[in-house]
Amino acid sequence: MRCPYCGVVNQSRVLDTGPDQRGGIRRRRECEVCGKRFSTLERAIIQTPLLIKGNGDREEFDREKLLRGIRIATAKRPISATEIDKMVDHIEQNLQQMGRAEVSSRVVGDMVIEGLKALDLIAYLRYAIVYLGLDNLESVQREIDHMLAGGQPSKKGAGSNKAS
Ligand SMILES: [Zn+2]
Repeated sequence: MRCPYCGVVNQSRVLDTGPDQRGGIRRRRECEVCGKRFSTLERAIIQTPLLIKGNGDREEFDREKLLRGIRIATAKRPISATEIDKMVDHIEQNLQQMGRAEVSSRVVGDMVIEGLKALDLIAYLRYAIVYLGLDNLESVQREIDHMLAGGQPSKKGAGSNKAS
């Protein structure tokens, strides 16, 4: 804490502490060096971590961009805009609750995959084809077989443990 008058750092005495109207904590302080009084306000800031892309670039979490990708996957499926909004809210909250400065963008992709799987398997499959990079009919077929067998969707490159 820096004194706004003389600039000395961490040399103030707390005179009193009380709640601020907006949910923060207000402290009345007195600088031990220059004797001036000032108040500080402490408030929690909710921050969404930066996303680290595959090529190492950082980008801000972009709610609109995420919504666009999900809308494409869910086009003409019986999923309401409200459900999609809720899913994106949930993803954003999960990211914030991680309390990290940065996370891999794959974390977001995985959350979308999980969310779509719970909502609609066709939408899930559309998203998975792009996201998991299923670039041939065999791998798409394998994913469908896996879903029909009631298994968890496979992650890219993960070994399958088929029980058949
Ligand atoms: Zn001071």
